[in-house]
Amino acid sequence: MVHLVDSVGEGGRNYTIDVLRVQILLKSKGYTIPPGRGICGTATIAAIKKFQAAFMSQPTGLIEPHSVSLQKLTDESHAIYEWSGDSSQWSQDKKLKSLAPDLRGKVVFIIDKLRRDGFCPSIYYGWRSVAVQLVLHSSGRSKVKFSFHNAQLIDGTPNSYAADIIDSRFGWTNQAEIMGFWSALGNTAKSQGLIWGGDWSSFPDVAHVQLVPNSLLRTVKQESGL
Ligand SMILES: [Zn+2]
Repeated sequence: MVHLVDSVGEGGRNYTIDVLRVQILLKSKGYTIPPGRGICGTATIAAIKKFQAAFMSQPTGLIEPHSVSLQKLTDESHAIYEWSGDSSQWSQDKKLKSLAPDLRGKVVFIIDKLRRDGFCPSIYYGWRSVAVQLVLHSSGRSKVKFSFHNAQLIDGTPNSYAADIIDSRFGWTNQAEIMGFWSALGNTAKSQGLIWGGDWSSFPDVAHVQLVPNSLLRTVKQESGL
């Protein structure tokens, strides 16, 4: 684990050397760190909170030495994930990790909410490779050759802007519609500011939730280096 002299974040001691270490770790995980590195400002605290939201119900915005937050921040960035293969077969945890941090926190919220409402929500696709996307496209299951599911960091680390969420009991059968799963998913996703594919009249995609509007697809593709 990376060593911190003292705490970093909201109400922390924020020694420059510690702040730099935390900022580098956050950056390696895809969080946006503004100029003025080494100084812990509101943007760094916001990034810490976003990161913590994936595993804490009440993010503190503070990373302390020897804390679970620091352990997660270092272990995960040092772990070598195998991102190849069929991403629909990955564990739920790995699928969550393949999402852009902004989307990840919202998907955690949605899954928690739907579970409390009696559903069995499950991520079917988080990130997927362009190779998988092309197969889906040629078989008519997707309209596009590059989708928000393909978004990645410039080094190839998955950073998906979309997730497909199903009820694991029903999948895409009529039962999902009858039990009201899709509308519950759509309403919860929209309450979190996400875009729901079920609203697309030309090509409804009821399991699909997305972080940004379709008009930004080209920008996201460029940012992905693809
Ligand atoms: Zn999708």
